[in-house]
Amino acid sequence: MKTINHYVDGAEYPGTSGNTQPVLNPSLGKPQAEVALASTEDINHVIASAQNAQKGWARLNPQKRVRIIMKWIALINENMDELATTLSLEHGKTFPDAKGDIQRGLEVLEFALGAPHQLKGEYSSEVGTGIDTYSMRQPLGVVAGITPFNFPAMIPLWKAGPALAAGNAFILKPSERDPSVPVRLAELFVEAGGPAGVLNVVHGGKESVDALLDSDVVQGIGFVGSTPIAQYIYERCAATGKRAQCFGGAKNHAIVLPDADIEATADTLVGAAFGSAGERCMALSVVVPVGQETADNLRDAILKKIPSLNVGHSLDASSDYGPLVTQDAKDRVENYIEQGQSSGAELLADGRTLDMSSASFDGESLAEGFFTGPTFFDHVTPDMSIYTDEIFGPFLSMVRAETLEEAVKLPTEHEYGNGVAIFTSNGGAARDFATAVNVGMVGINVPIPVPIAYHTFGGWKASGFGDLNQHGPDSFRFYTKTKTVTSRWPDEENAGPQFSMPVMD
Ligand code: NAD
Repeated sequence: MKTINHYVDGAEYPGTSGNTQPVLNPSLGKPQAEVALASTEDINHVIASAQNAQKGWARLNPQKRVRIIMKWIALINENMDELATTLSLEHGKTFPDAKGDIQRGLEVLEFALGAPHQLKGEYSSEVGTGIDTYSMRQPLGVVAGITPFNFPAMIPLWKAGPALAAGNAFILKPSERDPSVPVRLAELFVEAGGPAGVLNVVHGGKESVDALLDSDVVQGIGFVGSTPIAQYIYERCAATGKRAQCFGGAKNHAIVLPDADIEATADTLVGAAFGSAGERCMALSVVVPVGQETADNLRDAILKKIPSLNVGHSLDASSDYGPLVTQDAKDRVENYIEQGQSSGAELLADGRTLDMSSASFDGESLAEGFFTGPTFFDHVTPDMSIYTDEIFGPFLSMVRAETLEEAVKLPTEHEYGNGVAIFTSNGGAARDFATAVNVGMVGINVPIPVPIAYHTFGGWKASGFGDLNQHGPDSFRFYTKTKTVTSRWPDEENAGPQFSMPVMD
């Protein structure tokens, strides 16, 4: 069976631990490869490689760095189908969705091409007589990204693009569940002319992450994953004075007002709740119709659409969505169906009834794949675990509200604050909602409001720890530190020692 090794100094690195973990094909429920897991010694080797490469990379002028990134973008595009196929086979998202994963990552690389502009400092002349002050943005040095399974191309590129363009060396610790695409992206960076060691990839779990967190050389950590790990990493970085941005889980609400187009909204909701098997941090998992009539109409419209959803092999062009990532993920989602039933919510569509026992694709049985059908509950209330917890599966809960005020309170008071959407034809109501709601990213008639690359992406509350968002101008602020220089060129007039604090007059 193929082993997916670490990628260090521009070459495969098998590591010294001898430990590996299976990489599954979730559509078949079978291992397809194994991934090497790093020891602390391996992490130290990777850090030394990055430290060695970083100084020369930072000395290149920003335009030369972005020319390499420009070539990298071209190579990723040339290899798009191969990358998307690998991604789909390891993650379980459909091929078009896998392409979208890569494409949204590429957009941040394109944004990072503006590094010469983003890295410009400020200059003030004559802040005192003969004195000028200027600032410059310098790279942090060696930084690391720890990324989740659900976007194995997009999130690594969101972090690596601005970090590299700013002159840092970047160590990527992707999810061990779908590690091939991150390695391939690093190979393409070197093929594009990126110096060896500037972008390394290392696989592993807690031991590897802890070694990165405890290193004196690593200056910044960009994390995306579940909330408990995000908080753990943020706290551990704070304890040693390391810069960190840590993004966590989500529970995204869609508020539907009586004046919304119910058919169009139902279409949108079905895609946003069940697409990618609900394994998106911006998936809509709670719908809040305002008024009983809106709720009844929306419920009927969603229920009409669910039976036509096609769940199948991730590479089957007729699949609307594929399997969950592991058997554990499937068990977890299906356990929440039981919890919803026992807490008294009304189960309208039950994902457990999906029968794949005789399904096959390309001659292979799908009976052992980690599939679950779409689940839809009505009459969910805020005290139920299916409302409070992130389920991360094809699972939609309807919470009924009588007024807009009551509806806005739900996402505002929820523990998570990643994304939220409102569906309405009333501009004033939408505008007030966007201002009032206590959530980081808002969609107005847009279900999954992932901001475009030149704006920033980040959730609030338990969905994000740290003050600077991903991509957009914040990413350059995160991956650089500001140095401010105050300068005076001595002449005879101001020569000699000064013993009191200088003041500007
Ligand atoms: P996860 O937290 O299990 O893993 C994320 C990363 O942390 C992986 O690289 C993993 O190897 C590492 N890790 C796991 N356990 C660790 C530990 N004990 N100590 C140190 N590191 C550890 O998350 P996941 O299951 O890969 O991804 C799904 C989660 O990510 C969901 O909660 C989802 O909402 C969230 N997510 C959030 C965003 C966002 O922008 N807010 C985006 C995508 C995914």
